[in-house]
Amino acid sequence: MISWKEIALSAYYFSTLRTRRREAIERAAQHREPVRILFYHRIADDVRNGWTIGHKAFADQVYWLREHFDLVSLAEAQNRLASGRNRWPTACITFDDGYADNRRFAIPLLLKLRIPFTYFICTDPVLNGTPFPHDQSAGRPLEVNSIGHIRELVDAGVEIGTHTRTHANLGNGISTNQLISEITGSKDDLERAIGQQVRYFAFPYGQHKNLSNAACRIAAEAGYVGVCSAYGGYNFPGDNPFHLRRFHADSQFIRFVNWMTVDPRKRRQQHDFPIDELTLPPETAGP
Ligand SMILES: [Zn+2]
Repeated sequence: MISWKEIALSAYYFSTLRTRRREAIERAAQHREPVRILFYHRIADDVRNGWTIGHKAFADQVYWLREHFDLVSLAEAQNRLASGRNRWPTACITFDDGYADNRRFAIPLLLKLRIPFTYFICTDPVLNGTPFPHDQSAGRPLEVNSIGHIRELVDAGVEIGTHTRTHANLGNGISTNQLISEITGSKDDLERAIGQQVRYFAFPYGQHKNLSNAACRIAAEAGYVGVCSAYGGYNFPGDNPFHLRRFHADSQFIRFVNWMTVDPRKRRQQHDFPIDELTLPPETAGP
């Protein structure tokens, strides 16, 4: 059933369509196209909770993305941000947590279409075969990926990132030792398990209150080349490429399209999390 919110958003979307088109032409001319980085959690047709999208809705989004965007890896996104120029509408796909159900439909579809994506996992649930704390507290202990599943993804060329060891909130009140355990420790655990370097980290929850410069510095020192937030935001050429802003891939198509086509209101109101230059990894920090 269509909600009044969807109707209101559709009206807003169509009323701003001319502005969106004009701004897209201007951005292309100035090579100022942002990189849109989406995050998904679980793609499944059963247990439809707030972090699950159905198979058809996911496929509709993927085919629409393929038609309208350059779908690139996080590393290519960073190249485009660092170069200060990006002419083409660009998007990246990421997943958080590590749900076994993604193997049924989403992962085979992306591999079949040769679309790059980054898969962020919490290492303790994956390595121990235990459900996520947020699913346990919701009374729905959903199956998590096994390390065998993750090794299959590595073999298929998928970038695997970490999402802490325990899905901890890394905001205020966490000690330095805990930050090191969650950020550096999860990287060490995963690298040992898959036998290759882990380059990206995604903050659990990812809102401003869940991020800190201390955490970013620890991530840079651990050797990550980028960290992802999830508070909603676009990445413009020239932005610090160490911090990759993401937004949620909403199951409602109109909300998804509204974000992807650069909502003028969201762009104007983007309240960025400032990351110190100190957090840049040494090799990219310059002389
Ligand atoms: Zn998460």
